[in-house]
Amino acid sequence: MTARLKIPFDNSFAQLPDQFYTRQDPVPVTAPRLIKVNEDLATLMGIDPDSLKTEDGVQMLAGNNVPDGASPLAMVYAGHQFGGWSPRLGDGRAILLGETVGIDGVRRDIHLKGSGRTPYSRGGDGRAWLGPVLREYIISEAMAALDIPTTRALAAVETGNKVLREEGPLPGAIITRVAQSHIRVGTFQYHYSRGDKDALRTLANYVIDRHYPEAKQAHPPYRTLIEMVMDRQARLIAKWMQVGFIHGVMNTDNMSVAGETIDFGPCAFMDTYHPGTVFSSIDHAGRYAWAKQPGIAQWNLSQFAQSLLPILHEEAQIAVGIGQETIDEFQDIFSNYYFEGFGKKLGLITLQPGDPDFIGDTLKLLSDNEVDFTLFFRHLTGFARSNLGQDQGTQEQNYKQKLQKLFKDPEAFNNWLPQWQSRQNQEKAPPEERLETMRTSNPIFIPRNHQVEAMIQAAVAGDYGPFERLHSILSAPFNEQPDNARYEQPPKPEEIVHATFCGT
Ligand code: AMP
Ligand code: MG
Repeated sequence: MTARLKIPFDNSFAQLPDQFYTRQDPVPVTAPRLIKVNEDLATLMGIDPDSLKTEDGVQMLAGNNVPDGASPLAMVYAGHQFGGWSPRLGDGRAILLGETVGIDGVRRDIHLKGSGRTPYSRGGDGRAWLGPVLREYIISEAMAALDIPTTRALAAVETGNKVLREEGPLPGAIITRVAQSHIRVGTFQYHYSRGDKDALRTLANYVIDRHYPEAKQAHPPYRTLIEMVMDRQARLIAKWMQVGFIHGVMNTDNMSVAGETIDFGPCAFMDTYHPGTVFSSIDHAGRYAWAKQPGIAQWNLSQFAQSLLPILHEEAQIAVGIGQETIDEFQDIFSNYYFEGFGKKLGLITLQPGDPDFIGDTLKLLSDNEVDFTLFFRHLTGFARSNLGQDQGTQEQNYKQKLQKLFKDPEAFNNWLPQWQSRQNQEKAPPEERLETMRTSNPIFIPRNHQVEAMIQAAVAGDYGPFERLHSILSAPFNEQPDNARYEQPPKPEEIVHATFCGT
């Protein structure tokens, strides 16, 4: 390979004063080995993908060399974790190398996760093991393909070093994570809790410049900042819920102010629909269950608003009023995204007053009948398509049977179907448009937990075939892939994964 490693760094965060971070190089590892480079993303970022595969490239991805133009640092932040307050967290096992502005004009962070100890490591070893690195690679890239705002995976490497975890020594790995930025609600909380008003203003202005330039027109812009962050979060959480995603650790330090999904720890997609579904092995109280995510997001956003109080208004009482008023709008904004999205999944483009109830009743029916969430909407889309087709009869029957089979009580489906059909008939949009809306709202392939776990086990045993396969399938989640039909299926009883681990 002739490509030379040259990253077009253009770092802005590193130019902020040093109360936002500690300068820190990644800690070298013994024997880096490349697992994967995300070629499309590299190209988008203005990086030659081949250069990442060179010796220099792999050494950089492993943290063994710091490329020209990088300004490595560990960011400081605080956070509420499962409701408990931690005054200082920060990048305990990650390094921000710097930023690039891509050929699309978008500024993105390049961040190594699993890259060794930093001043924020507390008791931790600063490392990650292969399992969570591959999990994050697969799930974040699947999210991107599902058109859900998310951090991305630029690359993954094995380190050649073992990492000691409860299960024993495990292969170490590093993921190169790319984000619109790594600024979290917890970043604001850190400076608020220290009473550092100047830092808050600097940070808020930086975030506005970088993510919400439209807010600059408002006076003062900080209320608009809260509204815009809230809007992106409301939209994000609704999108998660519409694909059955459960984040699992929605702590304030894991909530990005840029509105991207970040920190794929014990997250998972549910198979059987139930609003109380939880996966995280450490979430005993079901705090971050599927249906609780909007409430938690609003709580986190109220922490964000609170952190901005000192710069919202000179008079504390007025500032609190502004903050409260703004956060009170969350429920309505979220509901709009939620029902609009679920409407689309059902082929309902123009929502009517009765639709939220119809959607609620439909979901209740799915839960009562222990229906697979993804397959239900996928087969309903198939049914809608067969309604349009020439060879109606057989195909339609086919999908009807598939749908009936998903229900514990097939009669329950038979009773629901005419309701849906009569609601469909009131839509003004042509059936082709409704079908296309359903098709692009209802993925056929999601990263099902049992497949992700099987992929990790294979990789630990040295077989990256399942990783490559899963990655490729999930890059086109809305497309029929007859050869991969097996991957549409929920787990067999013996394959069900009940808990996912934080994987730290
Ligand atoms: P997370 O649960 O991954 O969002 O991490 C919460 C906090 O713990 C962050 O400050 C992380 O940097 C830190 N942390 C997690 N795992 C480790 C580790 N292995 N070594 C050092 N710090 C860690
Ligand atoms: Mg985190």
